[in-house]
Amino acid sequence: TDTDTADEAVRATCDDATICKRFATSKGYWKDSCLQYFVRNVGERKAPEINRGYYARVKGVNLLLDAFLEKTEGHCQVINLGAGLDTTFWRLKDENLLPRKFFEVDFPTVVARKIHSIKTKPPLSKPIIDVHSTDSLLLESHVLDSDRYCILGADLRDISSLDEKLKKFQLNPELPTLLLSECVLVYMTPSQSSNLVHWAAETFHTAMFINYEQVNMSDRFGQVMIENLQRRQCTLGGVELCQSLDSQKERFLKTGWEHANALDMMTVYGVLPQDDVAR
Ligand code: SAM
Repeated sequence: TDTDTADEAVRATCDDATICKRFATSKGYWKDSCLQYFVRNVGERKAPEINRGYYARVKGVNLLLDAFLEKTEGHCQVINLGAGLDTTFWRLKDENLLPRKFFEVDFPTVVARKIHSIKTKPPLSKPIIDVHSTDSLLLESHVLDSDRYCILGADLRDISSLDEKLKKFQLNPELPTLLLSECVLVYMTPSQSSNLVHWAAETFHTAMFINYEQVNMSDRFGQVMIENLQRRQCTLGGVELCQSLDSQKERFLKTGWEHANALDMMTVYGVLPQDDVAR
């Protein structure tokens, strides 16, 4: 059906992100030794704007995430919504910054691919086993569940099943919770993403939500992105809703969040550690 084709194109976007990150890290923009296990080859050259954009995105999100982990001294949980092939779990393990439990959710087919890579590549599986206390680690094609890391297949548009699955794997609504979505809400309709953001607001006692996505699709980059997605038959749900930083904030303030702040990436670039930016 058309929906299947559109969903398939959305699922493929996680490869775009990983391919771009693989190239940027091969040039030393930042370090990530796990990407090679998800994308074997470095691939063709990317424009400096793409590399810098990914650098600012990764560093910016890490800065907020690490601040949350430090503030809660790790007595918290993280839920990466639409995580794709993201490698944050391994970075946090490496840097001794793991939360009590790190959850990831994506479509079952994406999750199955990720779990397969973990199963077959010791540099990915060893760190998970290292922080797991028993012999029994749940490893199925669409679920991985260990003490500190859980990867689940679910559709983020189906809130009740999402909630049920997360709770089945010891999601704790009382624990300070960081929700993260990077380039994910934009693929849903405004009402679907509002439902998700609303669920997050009402489910957790104490929570912070980091959302990264494109706004102002009327500029040249926005147009290029829309054309790209149209060619691949993706629909872009959030476009009408989030034309500006104010409408991004509104999306949260209208769904039960007490505070919201939105920064454009030029501002973020300006507040990243400037010696690293200069490097
Ligand atoms: N967050 C990752 C990153 O920044 O590297 C991946 C970003 S990728 C552009 C978007 C991801 O969102 C894809 O992995 C896609 O499968 C996932 N996604 C989009 N809509 C989803 C939905 N309704 N349910 C589950 N996952 C979804």
